[in-house]
Amino acid sequence: MLVEGTILRGPRFEPVEGRVVVEDGEIQTVEETSVESDDVVLPAFVNAHTHVGDSIAKEAGEGLSLEELVAPPDGLKHRLLRAASREEKIAAIRRSARQMQATGTASFVEFREGGVEGVYALREAVEGLDVDPVILGRETVEAMEASDGFGASGANDAEFSTERNATERAGKLFGIHAGEADPSDINPALDLSPDFLVHVVHPEPLHLDRIEDSEVPVVVCPRSNLVTDVGVPPVRELLDRTTVALGTDNVMLNSPSMFREMEFASKLTDASATEVLRMATRNGAAVADLNCGTVEPGRDAKLLVLDGDSDNLSNSQDVVRAVVRRAGANDVKEVVL
Ligand SMILES: [Zn+2]
Repeated sequence: MLVEGTILRGPRFEPVEGRVVVEDGEIQTVEETSVESDDVVLPAFVNAHTHVGDSIAKEAGEGLSLEELVAPPDGLKHRLLRAASREEKIAAIRRSARQMQATGTASFVEFREGGVEGVYALREAVEGLDVDPVILGRETVEAMEASDGFGASGANDAEFSTERNATERAGKLFGIHAGEADPSDINPALDLSPDFLVHVVHPEPLHLDRIEDSEVPVVVCPRSNLVTDVGVPPVRELLDRTTVALGTDNVMLNSPSMFREMEFASKLTDASATEVLRMATRNGAAVADLNCGTVEPGRDAKLLVLDGDSDNLSNSQDVVRAVVRRAGANDVKEVVL
């Protein structure tokens, strides 16, 4: 299989005209040569933080506090989830997954509620789709064992050392929310030696030092942070210290489109377009231990092909900036997964 166009090659997304040669799902070579195509070829996205389980409750609860919306047991989302059948919930999750696939996402790292049953429900929802979830079970060690790891709510909610140790023994991923509303749960989260932190909107200098020393990656979700009114993550400082990836967080609050998250992150923070594209691809793959996110030989051929001559993208003077700050679902020509 050949994919031709302007290829955003390698870890620096250097635009080169040519073709990607794919065999058995793996990138064999990236050949620099003159081609006819106006297409733009880039790595498919890795959405590094999602909660798709709440797909039945999109845009619920305008005017409610976050507590009234999500706090168990009687926050609005829990009432809506209880009122929906298993089939309705699975169908809604499937539509979110399909949307992610259509908007160029190869994989998403899901913090999955509902224990073992929740893990099974997500697997059922994505059956037959090409988008590939990395599922982190929540609440129980059994959910971790049934999935790809453990996704912890936050170190102020509970003491997670049992779950952390079991996940370590299983050789799986352990992620935890930290520093979303305030800094108080960042140190205890770091004490668990997690594989990654989520949010980190409020790190203090000591936290940044610890993050750098332990080389723990951070997943930022800037649109979510604005919806929940907790502030803006210090993306520049985080990028200077560690690997930073990008996630769309709860689908109840935000569409799971990485195009929207990239545009928002690029315009809200002083990360460069190249850095934002790296957050949305290679760095997400690094967080989830996936062999995609970069167009280079030896990587899984998970590619996104955009129409560089669409009304939206034509006449762009900087292809990486155009992809990050302007591209959208209408520009997608093909998602190779
Ligand atoms: Zn989350």
